[in-house]
Amino acid sequence: MGGFEKSCPFFILFLDTVIYNVIYKVRYNILTFSGGIQPMAIRQIVQYEDSEGSKALAKASVKFDFNSDVYLDYILEDLWDSLDAHETGVGLAGVQIDIAYRIFVMKGEKRRREFINPVILKKSTTIVKDNEGCLSRPGVEKIRGRCDSVLLQWQNCKGKTCRKVFRGLEARIIQHEMDHLNGKDCLYG
Ligand SMILES: [Zn+2]
Repeated sequence: MGGFEKSCPFFILFLDTVIYNVIYKVRYNILTFSGGIQPMAIRQIVQYEDSEGSKALAKASVKFDFNSDVYLDYILEDLWDSLDAHETGVGLAGVQIDIAYRIFVMKGEKRRREFINPVILKKSTTIVKDNEGCLSRPGVEKIRGRCDSVLLQWQNCKGKTCRKVFRGLEARIIQHEMDHLNGKDCLYG
């Protein structure tokens, strides 16, 4: 009995990993850039300074298919949990937590927003310069020129197509995250 009690935590850990693999990766078939699995809601942010990370960040993300069996709620939950773990973060793209779909989340000025398959339909000609940072490059800030406003089309978590004009900081966050989805360096690209 004593021996069983000692080995029990390891068994539970093993079982946990098996359950995670079946539910999270296999059943919901989430496409990752690395093919790896991170069994946590708060996921490690992919870093530019890491050679594998910079390769993943240079890849364009693929369109999310609402008819697939991929469980979108899990992806969004991980994006929010991972973003909320960083006080300074205002936006996070799927690629930054190794998820290969065109999805990002944003802490907007009035509300939190989720964008699936976003496309910028129009940009203003007015360019505004401001400091920008990135959770994939902590401690680095760079002055970047961004369009003052964008007309964005996207799908919400139910798959409904939405359109809205975003201005100022929100427009800046959107352009930064779109760079990530297109595999472009958000600060130096
Ligand atoms: Zn970034």
